Amino acid sequence: PGTDPQYERSAVIDLAAIRHNVRRLADAASPAKVMAVVKADAYGHGAVPVARAALEAGASWLGVAHISEALALRAAGIEAPLLAWLHTTESNFAAAVAAGVDIGCSGWELERIVAAARDQERPARIHLKVDTGLGRNGATLESWDQLVGEAMEYQDEGLLRVVGIFSHLSVADEPERPETDEQLAVFREVVAVAEDAGVDLEVRHLANTPATLSRPDTHFDLVRVGLGIYGLSPFEGQTSAELGLRPAMTLRTLVSQCKDVPDRQGVSYGLRYHTSGPSTLALIPLGYADGVPRVATGGPVRVAGRTYPVVGRIAMDQMVIDVGNIGPAGADLFGAEAVLFGNGNDGGPTADDWAVAAGTNNYEIVTRISPRVPRRFI
Ligand code: PLP
Repeated sequence: PGTDPQYERSAVIDLAAIRHNVRRLADAASPAKVMAVVKADAYGHGAVPVARAALEAGASWLGVAHISEALALRAAGIEAPLLAWLHTTESNFAAAVAAGVDIGCSGWELERIVAAARDQERPARIHLKVDTGLGRNGATLESWDQLVGEAMEYQDEGLLRVVGIFSHLSVADEPERPETDEQLAVFREVVAVAEDAGVDLEVRHLANTPATLSRPDTHFDLVRVGLGIYGLSPFEGQTSAELGLRPAMTLRTLVSQCKDVPDRQGVSYGLRYHTSGPSTLALIPLGYADGVPRVATGGPVRVAGRTYPVVGRIAMDQMVIDVGNIGPAGADLFGAEAVLFGNGNDGGPTADDWAVAAGTNNYEIVTRISPRVPRRFI
């Protein structure tokens, strides 16, 4: 890459890596099926191409947070089973029913989903969501029996079909913690309550990526995997490669200026960095408007086979690396490819390294790469 102006600054998305990762996760999950979680534009990787690649590689479901995200996939012609689980009173339940999108339901949505089904003259497909301990969305345990009862009444009226029950784990990325066992026990209990009430479930689902990789007892009928399909590790201290995963996103550009500067040259807003000795500064045309965290000074940039830390503040459009006093070789870096993160194969930096530099996780690093950075699919 490097000669197409459209991609002078780009996130290169390796769809073969996505397919590899889906197969790896499907192996781990088997006989449970795989829901590829493609919310937030597939964690920044591009929802439609990633969804297609995931389905090709054996995922049988897709998952998103918002109905609007699900509708965008349907508009692109994707017909696979598709669940959206996070709603407001302004969500378009009627459009979801019309498009055959499964709807996650924590309780309050039930009446609105039923109204949408009446309106569309078509039964809604719902997955009841229970909060087994994460403390986010999902029905409380106290409201569970009543929610199941009400849903069954509507099902008997032909207004909806309870397709699934699901919950989300809170600490699966820390396998030594006991709360996953507690959530699993609660999940088993609430599923039993629903099945005793006569709910005939297609899918029970609890596991995210870390649980898919480390806790077969959480797999049930379906696993919902996001991070892993993008090739990133959910575990601190375990790399993608150690898990058999391949990072799919490479954030790259070209060095847009190279200049020799004297000793004590200040760099970027606030002049928080000064050269120590005559040096060469290389300008990297990516910044926080592109989604690189402003706090991530020190983050690694790979140029011509070497990795340099970002010095001084990251600005809106640009950042600087100090390549040192390497004489005329410094000027040779002008126009060279600069990689902020990629698959790490050549010892180059990864999204994990940027997560450390920014004090965040790898999820946030890839997800926040902004639409200003074109995605190039290979
Ligand atoms: N299920 C739900 C409800 C989620 O919100 C998410 C993402 O946060 C996932 C599954 C996927 O989690 P992961 O990316 O850790 O696989």
